[in-house]
Amino acid sequence: MSSDEIRSQVLEACHALAAYELGPGIGGHVSMRVPGEERYWVNVLDRCFEEMTSDDIVLMDFDGTVIEAGRTISPGIGFHPGIYRIRPDVGAIVHTHGYWVTAQSAFARPPQAWHNLSTYFQGRTAVAPDDDIESIAPALGSDDIAIVIPWHGAITVDAELGIAAALHVTFDYACKLDVTLSDSSATPMPDDHLQHIRQLLGTANYLELTWDLMRRKAARAHGSRPSIGA
Ligand SMILES: [Zn+2]
Repeated sequence: MSSDEIRSQVLEACHALAAYELGPGIGGHVSMRVPGEERYWVNVLDRCFEEMTSDDIVLMDFDGTVIEAGRTISPGIGFHPGIYRIRPDVGAIVHTHGYWVTAQSAFARPPQAWHNLSTYFQGRTAVAPDDDIESIAPALGSDDIAIVIPWHGAITVDAELGIAAALHVTFDYACKLDVTLSDSSATPMPDDHLQHIRQLLGTANYLELTWDLMRRKAARAHGSRPSIGA
């Protein structure tokens, strides 16, 4: 995959997350690893997701050097190389301070299962000990797909950026249910039902379809067509 293709995928993911109102303000980052190198592309700090253009997606190395200098990067960017070093299978990382993931993070625990889609995250969500950047990456287990950063926000990861972004939108939904139902008389999904649903979800391509939907929403918001094959 060329640098231009990686850059356009990161940009498209920023716009798609914006279409879900994840990251309407300053903060939050989407990154994609350059395969086989200790480098990754990531958005700058001084724009919100919706505003990003191709020029706002910059190349960084794992030591924190901005290859295309002159742009402001989030001071919290350090967990990206941390995760890429610990998990060679991870090719993309999405971090937002979306309202519901942030509200749920104040519980300092993974969201409980209130819906079929919540089952993706059961037993596969890490909780960082705090939001010290050095402590976040080591919290991620070998099979985990999400991290709750207490009183801060959330991270999702995958080999592919589209799936990491779709997981983020799905995690936001699971968190909204947890925040709104935790203090109610509703009952979280029993464990045997959870295992059954997880098996069923494994037979569907829900996350791929969600990424396609996200791309369509982003294209509508920006008056363009989704990029081919992204
Ligand atoms: Zn943050």
